Amino acid sequence: MAKDRIFLIAPGFTDPKRDDGPFICPYCNQIEGILASFPDLTAGSRSPACHSHARASR
Ligand SMILES: [Zn+2]
Repeated sequence: MAKDRIFLIAPGFTDPKRDDGPFICPYCNQIEGILASFPDLTAGSRSPACHSHARASR
């Protein structure tokens, strides 16, 4: 069975359209917390991209 892949944005990112950053993604942050508590859920490498923010900030 294929493994799932999740992309989490690194906290502290900025948005060029806003001047009130830096920001965190609360959804990614919850997943980070789960993975920190249950490291066996991770399979290795991470990417600094995010489900919705990666597209919005480019
Ligand atoms: Zn996110």
